[in-house]
Amino acid sequence: SIKDSYGKRYAWYDDSMRATMLEQQEILNEMEFALKDGQFVPYFQPQYNYENGNLIGAEALVRWEHPRKGAILPCKFIPLFERNGFISRMDEYMWEQVCILLENWRDEGLPLVPISVNVSRRDIYNPHLVENILNLLHKYNLSHELLHLEITESAYTQNAEQLVNTVNLLRKHGLEVHMDDFGSGYSSLNMLQNVPVDILKLDMRFLGNDYKNERSGNVLNAVVRMATALRLPVLAEGVETKEQADFLKSIGCLLMQGYFFSRPIKVENFEALLKNKQTNSGLTENNLESIEN
Ligand code: C2E
Ligand code: MG
Ligand code: MG
Ligand code: MG
Repeated sequence: SIKDSYGKRYAWYDDSMRATMLEQQEILNEMEFALKDGQFVPYFQPQYNYENGNLIGAEALVRWEHPRKGAILPCKFIPLFERNGFISRMDEYMWEQVCILLENWRDEGLPLVPISVNVSRRDIYNPHLVENILNLLHKYNLSHELLHLEITESAYTQNAEQLVNTVNLLRKHGLEVHMDDFGSGYSSLNMLQNVPVDILKLDMRFLGNDYKNERSGNVLNAVVRMATALRLPVLAEGVETKEQADFLKSIGCLLMQGYFFSRPIKVENFEALLKNKQTNSGLTENNLESIEN
């Protein structure tokens, strides 16, 4: 009967809700230990200049290497950590791990590229943010150009004044600030006039799979032109195909990151890329291998 089928549906809904809540509760129970235990690890997604093939940097992306569950993706825990504030501690931990790696690489004589770290919308309103980051760079004796900070576009709309002050201060200290997820929000265009930023990160996924679609192409083209007019470099993220990369290049967007080049990779694999850069600059078949990982 109809009643039965409703009953079943509710039962299913309840079960899946319960499963999600249990999963979330488990995450909350385990996060403190996971942090102390070093289970949050940075993976690195390389960034390239597609014109000359040079490795220009990498983004550090957190993975939770759980002893039983394997690598957990950020979408499972970052939203929870943003709500309960734990994100700030996880992020500071991530930034420090990145600084430690940069220090190691420098001491090993590897050619360094700047590493971009993500700064959560919660971190931005931490009054000690700038001080904490400067302390880290000082502790590991790193030049300020080596750490780039990604702030998501939607954070820029919340309390613009405080954010602008923080970003200005960071940039005054020689740190680059990149606007992440550019194009995902609403206020993009007029905001750019007032907000200090060094690079726009445009996510190809916002435009759907249908990048060849004339409208998406026009939007991309317009964004790149506008950014150029404002003297802002654009880094396209989520570049998955050669066609996308070629199209971006044809409209003057040369900086790219995405599965076409490489997935986020483990630190050992990223170190191999740095070593490769030492002997042999430019994009090679080798680099593209990591796409299969
Ligand atoms: P994001 O900062 O915009 O990072 C880019 C995301 O796109 C990453 O997902 C990356 O793996 C994915 N991606 C890159 N290229 C491609 C592609 O060609 N195709 C597709 N389909 N995806 C691609 P990931 O690592 O799952 O991270 C998701 C989001 O979680 C990040 O988006 C960022 O907002 C957040 N996140 C990741 N690590 C951290 C962290 O350490 N701290 C903070 N606060 N947030 C983080
Ligand atoms: Mg990012
Ligand atoms: Mg992004
Ligand atoms: Mg994002």
